[in-house]
Amino acid sequence: MAAYIPDEKITAIKNASDIVDIISEIVSLRRAGRNFLGLCPFHAEKTPSFTVSPDKQIFYCFGCGAGGNVFSFLMKHGGLSFPEAARALAGRYGIDLPTRNLSPHEKKKLTERETILTLNGEAMSFYHKCLLSEERGKQAMGYLLKRGMTRKTIDEFKLGFAPDGWDHLLRYFRSRRKPVEMVLQAGLIVSRKKGEGHYDRFRNRIIFPIVNGQNQPVGFGGRVMDDALPKYLNSPETPVYNKSRSLYGLNRARQKCRETQTVYVVEGYFDMLSMHQFGIENTVATLGTSLTADHVQILKGFVGEGGKAVLVYDSDQAGIKAAQRSVAVFQKGLLEARILVLPKGHDPDSFLMDHGPDDFLKAAEQSMGMISFMVESAVEKHGLSIDGKVRIVNDLKPAILAIGDPVARSLQIKYLAERIGVDETVILQKVRRTANPPAKTAWLSGRQDLNTAPKPAPVRGETYRLERQVVAMMLQFPEMITDIERRRLMNHFTDPLLTEIGRGIIDHFTRAGSDIAGLVSRWEDPEKKAVVTRLSLTDERWARSGCMNLINQFEASIRRRDKALLKRIEAAEKSGDEILLAALLREKQHQARKIKEKQSGANH
Ligand SMILES: [Zn+2]
Repeated sequence: MAAYIPDEKITAIKNASDIVDIISEIVSLRRAGRNFLGLCPFHAEKTPSFTVSPDKQIFYCFGCGAGGNVFSFLMKHGGLSFPEAARALAGRYGIDLPTRNLSPHEKKKLTERETILTLNGEAMSFYHKCLLSEERGKQAMGYLLKRGMTRKTIDEFKLGFAPDGWDHLLRYFRSRRKPVEMVLQAGLIVSRKKGEGHYDRFRNRIIFPIVNGQNQPVGFGGRVMDDALPKYLNSPETPVYNKSRSLYGLNRARQKCRETQTVYVVEGYFDMLSMHQFGIENTVATLGTSLTADHVQILKGFVGEGGKAVLVYDSDQAGIKAAQRSVAVFQKGLLEARILVLPKGHDPDSFLMDHGPDDFLKAAEQSMGMISFMVESAVEKHGLSIDGKVRIVNDLKPAILAIGDPVARSLQIKYLAERIGVDETVILQKVRRTANPPAKTAWLSGRQDLNTAPKPAPVRGETYRLERQVVAMMLQFPEMITDIERRRLMNHFTDPLLTEIGRGIIDHFTRAGSDIAGLVSRWEDPEKKAVVTRLSLTDERWARSGCMNLINQFEASIRRRDKALLKRIEAAEKSGDEILLAALLREKQHQARKIKEKQSGANH
C-alpha cells in the first residue's frame, strides 16, 4: 500500500512526526510513567485506557483493542487512506511528496480535496476583501460593528461579505481561470434550475468561514443582515466538509478547553464570537444541526477526563428541546453535559454585552445536569398534582431510557422519585413497561465503531499465554531474538496469528532494528496491528535472566505437551483402543510434519 509514496519518504515522515503531538490535538493526554493516557477516541469510556507510547511511537487502547502507529491513528480517526494520512503528515512537517506515483483514482480524490480547500481559501479571502472594501462592504461592516464585533475578531475569524448579485464570486473565479466544475463541487456556486450556467450560493450575506482542526476553511455560513429568509445558509456537504463532525470555532477552542476542562456549546455564530471576544474562548457553535455522536467524541477529546460540556440556550423551550434531542448522545458518549438557560430575553451575545463575562461564568456554575434540568422543567410545566406527576414521569421516560449505564439510570430514577414524591418502584415499573429494545437509530449515525463493546477475549490455555509472552519479549527486549532463532522457538508456536507476527518481528528487526512503529506498518490487518501494539506495552520489566527463564518455561511446556501425547498413546495401546490410537498417532505425525514445514519455511 505504500507503493504510491517512495519508501524513503515514508521513513522521513515517520521520523519527523511525533505521535504524542498528533494525537494530543484530538485527545487530551496526561503523562503516566513512560506513556501518555487519555480517553479513547474510538470507544466511549469514562476512565482512560487509551495509551500512547512516545518511545515506541505507537498507541493502544486497553478498552477496545485499537492500536497502531501514527499513520494508523490518522487513518482510523480521520477515515483517511494510507496515502492521505502520509500526505497530511508530510504537509505538516514540510516534507515534499511527488504526486506522479499516485494511482489515477488516488490522484483524482486527492486533487479534488486539495482543489476544494484551495478554492475555499480563495473564496474566504475574496469575501473578507469585499467586507473591508470601502464601498462594497460598507453596510456589512457597519452591521458587524453595530453587533459589537471588534476589528480584531473580524480579522481573526476572517469574517466576510458576499456582495448582492448573482455572480460576483463566479466571475472572480472565472477571471482566475478556475474550473467551474470544481467551484460547484466546493458548494460555492449552484447550478441554475432552468437552462445552463451557475450562480453564487451566498448573496448579500455576512460570511463566516468554517475551519477544520488544521485551520483550513472547509465550508461557510452566511447570515442575512435583515429579515430575509433563510436567516442562515450553510455550505452543503462536500468531500472536505462533513456537518456531523464540524463545529464553528473548534480550532480556536482547544487550548482553553484543555485548561478549563469545560466547553461551552452555543447555537449561533455571533454567540460564539461574543464568547470569544469576552475571553471565554472554550466555546464552539453548532451549525444549525443537533449534536452528533462524533461531535461528542471530538469535544470529549478537548475537555478530557472528568471534563464537561455546558450547552447554553436562550430559553427554557430551546433548552428542553435540545436536552431531549441530545441526552442520549451524551449518555452514550459518556460525557457529562449541563444545561445553562440564560435569563429571559437574552442570548449569550446580548447577555455578555449587558452583564459581562464574570456574570456569565457565575451563571454557568449554576447550570444543571440534563436530567435534573428536564425534571425541573417538567415540574414547572405540569405542577405536582397527581395528574401532573403522571405527566412528569411520562415526559421523563424517554430520557431515562436513554441512559445506558444501569447505575446512573437507577440513580436518576431515585432522584426523580424523591423530587416528585412518588415511589421509586412505581417509576421503575412505568419505565420498564415501555422499555422497547433501544433502537439503534439516528444519533448513532456516522462512525459506527464508537459504541461497539470491546470483544471478550476467548479463553485460551497455557500454550497461548506463553506464546504471547514470548512475542512480547521479542518486541520489548529484542536482544533475545538471536536466542529465540537459535533455539527455533517459532517452530513450536501453535497460534497462527502469533506465529506470523513472531516471524514478522524477526524479519523486520534483523533488517531494520527494533523499530516497532515501522513493524506496525507491515500489516494492513487491524487485528495484527492491535496485537503488536498491545504486546509492546505490557508492564513487564525485562532482563536477560528473566527472558532465559521464559524461554526455558516455553521449551518445558513443549516437552510436557509432547510427553502428554506419548502417555495418551501408551494408554491407548494398553487398552487396545485401536481407533483412539490411530487418531493420536495421526496427531503426533501431524505435529512432526508441522514442525518440519515450519523449519523449511523458516530456512528458505
Ligand atoms: Zn478504545
